[in-house]
Amino acid sequence: MCMEYSMKCMCNSREASFNFREEIMPPEVISRVYCPECSREISFDPDSMLADNGWVIEYDMDVARFSALKTPHLLKEELTPALLFDEGYATWRGVYPGDHIDSAREREEIVALARTDPRAYLERIKSWGIKRMERLRQEGWRKANEG
Ligand SMILES: [Zn+2]
Repeated sequence: MCMEYSMKCMCNSREASFNFREEIMPPEVISRVYCPECSREISFDPDSMLADNGWVIEYDMDVARFSALKTPHLLKEELTPALLFDEGYATWRGVYPGDHIDSAREREEIVALARTDPRAYLERIKSWGIKRMERLRQEGWRKANEG
């Protein structure tokens, strides 16, 4: 189960949604979010921050360590921002901030085709997911470039 949580970036112009795998980490583990605009003014701290395509997530590593105490398999790991992000404990909902919103809109546009042009619809829906992931990979999003 994944709990959803949204947070505004520090300059208040963008919003990011997060997922917390198994709800081991509380939302408080994310202390700040910086969009590509406001992240320019910070000095990056690799011990508490994770950068993804201009965005930066600043974690509260004390909250992370405390929350890991009740989870034996996490205690064995070295808690880093990369672990929190890549393993899904405190990470974007979807591939990038706002992914679920764009994704729903894109899907809606394709589904609208089903009424007017069913054949085109089938083609589009088949290739959509693959092309989309390819585009996100090229844009440089961390989750699209895993593995
Ligand atoms: Zn911002």
